[in-house]
Order: sequence, then structure tokens, then C-alpha cells
Amino acid sequence: MTGATTSVELRAHNRVRLLRAVHDCGAGRTRSQLTRDLGLARGTASVLVAGLAEDELLHEEPAAGRARGRPTQIPGPHPRGPVALAVDVREDAWELAECELGGRTTVLEVGPHDGTPEGALAPLGEAVAAHRRRLGHRVAGVGVALAGPVRRGGLVDIGHLGWRSVDVPLLLGLGPGTPIAVGNDTAFAALAEARRGRLRGVRVGLHLHVDFDVGGVLVVDGRPLQGAGGMGAEFGHMPLGGGDRPCACGAVGCWGMDVGANALLRHVGLAYGGGRGRAQAEHVLATSEEAVAAGARALGRGVAALVNAHDPEVVTLSGLGAELRERAGEALVAACEPGLMSIRRDRPPLIESSALGWRGALLGAMESVFDAFLTIEGLELWRRNRGDGGPDTPERQNVTNSTFAEDNSI
Ligand SMILES: [Zn+2]
Repeated sequence: MTGATTSVELRAHNRVRLLRAVHDCGAGRTRSQLTRDLGLARGTASVLVAGLAEDELLHEEPAAGRARGRPTQIPGPHPRGPVALAVDVREDAWELAECELGGRTTVLEVGPHDGTPEGALAPLGEAVAAHRRRLGHRVAGVGVALAGPVRRGGLVDIGHLGWRSVDVPLLLGLGPGTPIAVGNDTAFAALAEARRGRLRGVRVGLHLHVDFDVGGVLVVDGRPLQGAGGMGAEFGHMPLGGGDRPCACGAVGCWGMDVGANALLRHVGLAYGGGRGRAQAEHVLATSEEAVAAGARALGRGVAALVNAHDPEVVTLSGLGAELRERAGEALVAACEPGLMSIRRDRPPLIESSALGWRGALLGAMESVFDAFLTIEGLELWRRNRGDGGPDTPERQNVTNSTFAEDNSI
């Protein structure tokens, strides 16, 4: 269903489709492949590409390594084209990156912080503002991943850091004119996995992201399911690991108490909590087989329970989860299998490491920005802002907790 009824509307619609296809394939397909994929006439594709190049949205490069025939062109990001500023705010540091259409990502800055909302977000806001001034109208938006549930409007709670209803857009202080997508790190990692990783093309997948604790989300047809208010999928706060310790979230026996950097630290008797101790936890991961096996077993038990509930085709692990699987995969599987219902044991779920390593949350933040940009309205705004000459003429502010809840199908 296109909804396009006039030739002008159809052209606007096809511009979005073509840019979306270029972005989703990582700017790796030739113009003729894209033309076929999208069912376009060759002449139509030529006109579209020329128009998008004129608007500095696309730039074509000759494909490498073709010895015979006509040179073929690969549409990719324009050197003066739109970029997403993507941020992964972890409990102890943030990472800020510039991402082009197609997904190529350049890390710009990394900033350790003290774990307080002001200590984390004020310097980050200054860094984002400086890059926004440098890049001008090219900034399509800012995507921010955070390690806690995010409510609509960008309010974040991170229990073990003492963050309660922290207004992320306000503390970043970017002012009007900057579209911001604020989202949960696990949900963003899952979105990236669905777009560019192991969950691509998977109908029902379960993604688990482990850092200081564990978070998880079910991904259905490429979309993380986050509940009506954006705060669902808190699998780390379900009693899946068999423990009974009180959690900073207010519940008792949360799975997140037994899986992640905090659990590794606790296992060897080191201080834990408050987002501190990453280096020590990495040392424990590398040296204590017992602590690693305990974490892998707790992870496996919880995976079994979630598989019983959701019947995913594949379970993907990112962050420390992938490292636990690599270091203690047998313990993980051995703990998972007894927890599976007998009807599932003939075909236990595939448990795989993320294809994106630690970058999933950052890439998901980028996807959320481009999801809002790669629309007829987003491209129209681009055209107007380009004409007006840059960042001093903002058209709107748009704060979302993510774009998952909206229908992005085109
Ligand atoms: Zn909890």
C-alpha cells in the first residue's frame, strides 16, 4: 500500500524507497540490483538517482572489480549528505559516533563519566552540540541509547545508578531543532541485530544484551516488542536466575543480579554496583573460570525460561553475553537444556553471538534516527534546511523514546 496517487507523490515515495534500500544493504548493491529489487523501470531509477544526487542525498561510485561490460555504479552516501549522531551511554562512559547513510560509523569521542545524570549527560550534550555546529544541516538527528527503561519523551530510569525519571533531552540541552531518539540499549542492540546482524530475516528472535547486568527483548518481524509505554521487555528484572537477592529496581531475585559484570565481581568478592569496576570485571572474565561458568549457567537457565515462553528461532547475545558464550558455551548450553520443556529438546534454540559485537546499541541508535529521516517528511525537511543554510534555522524538535512503536513500513 503506497498511498501515492499522483506522479509527484509516487516520486517522493520512490525516493524514500530507494534511499531506504541503499541504507539497508549497507550501500553495497549496484544501481541495477537496486532497480530490480524495487521493481523500478531503469529510466525511473536513473531519474531518481540523479535527483537524489542533486539533493546531496546519494553519491554513486563505480563498482570495483568488474573487468567486462559497462561500468556499473553503486549508490552510497553523499560526502555532504545526512548523518546520524549516535550515542551509547553506558553506566561508566559514553561513546559518540557519526553514522552515514548505509551504516558506516566513525567513533568521534569517548567520555568516561561519574554515573550521575548531570555528570554523564551535560558533557555529552556539549560534545553533541559541537559536532552539530561542525556538521550543520547534515545532522539528521541524534540517537541516544541508555542502560535502562525509557518512557515516551525520553524519561529514563536506571535503578542501580539511582536515576529516576531523568529527562535525557533536557539534560543534553540541545535545544529545539534537533530530532532526538532516546531508547533502551538492549532494544537498540536488538534493532541493529535485526537490520544488520544475525536476526536479519528472522521472524521471531530473542536478543539479550549483557553489560553490568542483562537486558533482553523479543524481536518479531524485525521489531523489538517494548510494550505499550516503551518499558516492557525487562527480562533482566524477572526471577530467572534462581537467586533471591534484592535488586535496585525494587524487586527480589532479578536475573540481572546473576548475569553480567556485577555478578562476575560479586563472585570473586570484589565490590560491585553503581556502574563501576569494568576493568576488574574484564580481568575476572579472563582469569576466573568459576565466575564465568556461574554467569554462563545463570544465563542459560534464563534463556531456557524465555525460550519456553516465546519459542524464538534464534537467541542472540551481545556485549558480555557473547564473551560468556565464547568462554563457557558448554556450561551455558548444559544449564539451558534441562530448563527446556521436553517438546523443545529435539530442536533446542540456536544460541549465537551477535554479529555486531559491542556496537549494537550504537548502531540501533543510528537506525532510529534514519527511520525518522527516511520518510517523505524527513526528506522534505532536508531539502528546506539545506536551502536555508544549516543548523541555525531549525524547523522542529522531535523527541521520541524510539521509533519502534510507529509504523515504519513504506
Ligand atoms: Zn530488578
